[in-house]
Amino acid sequence: MKTNFKRKTDCGLITKKLLKKTISLAGWVNKRRDFGNLIFIDLRDRSGIMQLVFNPDINKDAHRKAHELRLQYVIGVTGMVVERSPDTINPDLPTGNVELQVHELIIFNAAKTLPFQLDQIDEVDEELRLKYRYLELRTPHVQERFALRSKLNLVIREFFIKQGFYEIETPCMTKSTPEGARDYIVPSRIKHGSFYALAQSPQLYKELLMAAGFEKYFQIARCFRDEDLRADRQPEFTQLDIEMSFIDEHDIQKLIEELFAHVWKQILNKDLVLPFARLTYEEAFALYGSDKPDIRFDLKITDCTALFADTKITFLRSILDKEGKLGAIHLRGHELSRKELSTLEEESKILGAKGLLWIRFKQEQPESVIAKFLPEDFFSKAQKIFPTIADGSILLLIAGAYTETWQLLGKLRLRLAQKFDLIPHDRYSFVWIIDFPLFEWDQETKRWTAVHHPFTQPKTGWENQEPGQMKARSYDLALNGFELGGGSIRIHNAQIQKKVFELLGIPQKEVQEKFGFLLEAQELGFPPLGGIAFGLDRIAMIMTGTKSLRDVIAFPKTNRAVDLVMDAPSPISEKQLKEYGLFLKDKKK
Ligand code: ASP
Repeated sequence: MKTNFKRKTDCGLITKKLLKKTISLAGWVNKRRDFGNLIFIDLRDRSGIMQLVFNPDINKDAHRKAHELRLQYVIGVTGMVVERSPDTINPDLPTGNVELQVHELIIFNAAKTLPFQLDQIDEVDEELRLKYRYLELRTPHVQERFALRSKLNLVIREFFIKQGFYEIETPCMTKSTPEGARDYIVPSRIKHGSFYALAQSPQLYKELLMAAGFEKYFQIARCFRDEDLRADRQPEFTQLDIEMSFIDEHDIQKLIEELFAHVWKQILNKDLVLPFARLTYEEAFALYGSDKPDIRFDLKITDCTALFADTKITFLRSILDKEGKLGAIHLRGHELSRKELSTLEEESKILGAKGLLWIRFKQEQPESVIAKFLPEDFFSKAQKIFPTIADGSILLLIAGAYTETWQLLGKLRLRLAQKFDLIPHDRYSFVWIIDFPLFEWDQETKRWTAVHHPFTQPKTGWENQEPGQMKARSYDLALNGFELGGGSIRIHNAQIQKKVFELLGIPQKEVQEKFGFLLEAQELGFPPLGGIAFGLDRIAMIMTGTKSLRDVIAFPKTNRAVDLVMDAPSPISEKQLKEYGLFLKDKKK
């Protein structure tokens, strides 16, 4: 193989400006048409595609060798840029009016037939695509996502550095922290029987960085959580992590709004409207049945329990007597046939509802299975709760316990938006969710658990409240129905921190073992502090318009947490086990 070959130009950058110039290109054979006499090859590199022509009259050797070329061979060529004849111009290709007349060909490497065709990637089973992920990553539209992601990192770093932040790395191998998920554990070779945990987030380290006096910290940090994987989770993921001293929630939110405005402008050339919308957790849940509402469309939930306060309809009566609620979505200007309504009923049942009740109005008369049980003046009563009710309006009602019912209505709302195509897909609707409860009751363990995390500062007044009433100085940012991230103002006082651990029912001994270092730090000059963290993969997913986190992670894991490229996790040898002082109870024969 010739070794002095040097690529000088990128395929996608060749224009008529280079006509008659001799250039060298390298890349993959993307397409070949061998007409015997003339051979055409589409050469692909990261920048794009360039057509090559092998003509025996230009160079016999190169032409002879070009017969061997097959898809995905990796080659280098030298030749002259020439104009294409008018009938062969390809208007779909940026380089479509030129071609390279090759006089020298180097085959760097042959390639066997790939396990799948790259131009039919969308039809290939995901397991196979993930096993050969590097092949999938070869496709130009997949590569574009990673180009965007790379720029995203750059723009974020530029923003924070300009604002005086330090980028500081924190350990991945650490001690188990209670972020709510299971840890990935790493056995220690030196100290048998002891384990590191892979960091679920840099939370406590970033607080210690504030104790150290860095004041403004950010990091693009890898985090690990051993969760049962839902469709849009990955066991290892990237967080944009931020912490600051001497600030309050407004400072953080303002900074973050500026960050997103900058990122959206630099990368998508879109102007975001600031400030972002704000909803309290209670409002968000009451109106959208979610703490990450998609506010790009209306269809809010209305509490219409009062409308049925005196009802005699047995099943409603029994729900309302048990302090249940009735929530409704008012559909106006959208027709639904009886058949479509019963399909919706079925779909609601699949979502988990016991039933979906509908009432349609025709000339102020309700039409419904419960119509004959409704009072004469039902329309005018309904009008008080749904002021825009009109002929053709449909109320879709679900009854039951508040939280579950509203969650179901929230899902129904999304389903209706899809059905009637109500979502403006080019819109980015950011919304802050604030005033979260500090704790929630865990039925299983019969204990209060932290809604955000145990280091979150309670809102003023908490001293005189029951745990269930206490509010947190925390905030989430949602975008188009996704939670982008969340954060809080932290506790900086050891006494308050101890009190919160106590309310969480963590025994003092465990507090000392797990958080002794934090409590000590809080007594050694600890500044008021707060921060936030974002799922960077999710941000990239939304910005690239893709549907799954896997689309923007170079080597993602499957939903069984398997890396199919490397085939990890995998067993280790007896010798390794021994070194770590481990033995397997159930040895596989
Ligand atoms: N560490 C938190 C998380 O990972 C975010 C924060 O409070 O900054 O959710």
